Amino acid sequence: MENKDKEKIDFDIENERNILSTAIDQSSVVILITNIEGDIIYVNPVFEKVTGYSRQEAIGKTPRILKSEITPSEIYEQMWYTISNGGVWNGELINRRKDGSLYYEDSRITPIYNKEGILTYYLAVKHDITERKLLEARLKEIVIRDPLTNSYNRWYLMDRFSQLIDNYKRVKNSFSLVMLDIDLFKEINDSYGHQAGDYILTKFVNIINQNIRSYDIFGRYGGEEFILLLPDTDKENAYILMERILNIIGNKPFIYEGISINITFSSGIVESSEIDLDNINTDELIKIADNRLYEAKNAGRNKIII
Ligand code: GH3
Ligand code: MG
Ligand code: MG
Repeated sequence: MENKDKEKIDFDIENERNILSTAIDQSSVVILITNIEGDIIYVNPVFEKVTGYSRQEAIGKTPRILKSEITPSEIYEQMWYTISNGGVWNGELINRRKDGSLYYEDSRITPIYNKEGILTYYLAVKHDITERKLLEARLKEIVIRDPLTNSYNRWYLMDRFSQLIDNYKRVKNSFSLVMLDIDLFKEINDSYGHQAGDYILTKFVNIINQNIRSYDIFGRYGGEEFILLLPDTDKENAYILMERILNIIGNKPFIYEGISINITFSSGIVESSEIDLDNINTDELIKIADNRLYEAKNAGRNKIII
């Protein structure tokens, strides 16, 4: 090879190296390189911005400094298994910044081999996807919740109701459905204003949510009418629960702008076993509960009918 050609190749390599290192430094993604033991040997400036650790602090440590204990350990095991066997790993991790706050990252880790074909480095390219994740979570909440009371909305309620029926058909563990309707709510609106009515609806939902189990499903069916689904509960026990809640609500006035307002509600309860498996569906169960609710209203309100 002529000297001139070699010079050109050296120049190209040097040039390429400069361009690449500038690209990595300027990149908007986090770049982290470790040796085969997992010790960090390089991080780019975005790493410092995202994690809060300076380059000096990170180098020599392992990426475990970012571990949050929230990402399940199986994910790390799977990641190590993949990359130590020469594969490329792609996944989402929840990490912790230096200041203790959490962030989500989409991570791609690629093993790097030296000229002799020996696994030498791991290159991690990561995106901070926290904003996207938070937005997704917020959107999910918006889709399933009623904006006024923050209880589950009708759409989500009915979706869970259908799932509960499907499960019941398989496992046959009886559940109960309660329809609740606030008594003479129109009078509350007429006497104290729509705002007071809204306030009461919100507080009413809070009280019910505080008195049910985490796996019970409570949602707004419409207006001041709600449905409570109680898995693994017969209607006698549903009755006991509703009696307790009716007592709490009936005995505690709601205070709106200094005014004390008392409310009661009526409810109708149905148990899944009241309809045979071939005919059970959301409409049929709601129909029975609704009829009982109507009976409760006719019997003078502030009542539960099973
Ligand atoms: P009862 O159920 O005991 O027979 O009497 P009621 O007065 O509660 O009966 P009805 O179901 O006819 O009236 C419900 C009222 O609830 C009418 C409506 O204006 C009011 N309402 C429905 N949704 C809201 C809401 O989001 N905010 C407020 N403030 N009022 C609502
Ligand atoms: Mg009502
Ligand atoms: Mg009503």
